[in-house]
Amino acid sequence: MVERDVIIVGGGPAGLTAGLYTSRAGLKSLLMERGIVGGQIINATLVENYPGFPQGISGVELGSLMHQQAVKYGLEVVTAEVTGISQGQPYSISTTEGDFEASAIIIAAGSEYRKLEVPGEERLAGHGVSYCATCDGFLFRDREVAVVGGGDTAITDALELSRHATKVYVIHRRDQLRAAKVLRERAFAQPKLEFIWTTVVEEILGEKLLSGLKLRNVKTGQHSILEVAGVFVAVGLMPNSRSFFKIVDLDDAGYIITNETMATSAPGIFAAGDIRRNSPRQIGAAVGDGVTATMSAFKYVQEVGNGARITSP
Ligand code: NAP
Repeated sequence: MVERDVIIVGGGPAGLTAGLYTSRAGLKSLLMERGIVGGQIINATLVENYPGFPQGISGVELGSLMHQQAVKYGLEVVTAEVTGISQGQPYSISTTEGDFEASAIIIAAGSEYRKLEVPGEERLAGHGVSYCATCDGFLFRDREVAVVGGGDTAITDALELSRHATKVYVIHRRDQLRAAKVLRERAFAQPKLEFIWTTVVEEILGEKLLSGLKLRNVKTGQHSILEVAGVFVAVGLMPNSRSFFKIVDLDDAGYIITNETMATSAPGIFAAGDIRRNSPRQIGAAVGDGVTATMSAFKYVQEVGNGARITSP
């Protein structure tokens, strides 16, 4: 087993930034990602609020640039899923690709899509139920679709889908959107969007392919059927913290509790990005967390590990 100074779990903006900084500091660093490097941003058609890109940049391109930059400075990246971390120094990390050891760990495993958890959702996933408008939107060219949710993702998805679909219903459980003003204004100006307020999806209908949605108005209790070819679920995210609950303290919603140095309850384990409690869940914030976590990991490795060959980040 080869020991690393730092193992970074998760290849989104927080993890890739941590990898860039640890590698440049001369820390022997390994980043583990279970899926595609880039994290949630690869689902964003256009990122308009990350500084430095006045025309916006696609999430895929931004993720790829961050990856290239970190690898250029020596970050090692493996495709593996963490299944457990043992107590003690050095930490032993079990993964689907074997065991690894490290003096410090930066957990930047992000979040995953929250499900509606209604009948039909699991069965029809990939057969009309989608969680990614950028990935699947084109499949619904000239069809009618629905988006569930009222946040930035739901509205960004609805606007993206209006490029393909003939009509996009936005089903929201309240009568006000949570999405940012600029997105709300764009949405209300897009004639292909129709809002269905104070309504939830009770069931996703269809045998092999989605044929419609059973809806319930939460104010009147009235049920209705909406015939659509697809539904895009955009009801928020859940932290990917299942593998870490025994080793670091989590809050009631499953987010990792950190202090302002990104330190968790376990010495030498830091958390960064969407997975930590009170993260603003923005790319810029994740990048900042990645930098802070690296500074803290650097100090920790100098204290407990072989600090002789490393240079300040
Ligand atoms: P979010 O802000 O948590 O919004 C989730 C939406 O889904 C809310 O409108 C919520 O309703 C609704 N919802 C939650 N559970 C539901 C359920 N079981 N059934 C029906 N509706 C449900 O999540 P998000 O839109 O994915 O955004 C996550 C973070 O990423 C945010 O910080 C956001 O700002 C950021 N983001 C930014 C951009 C951008 O800047 N362009 C794009 C995407 C995401 P309520 O409103 O009633 O709670």
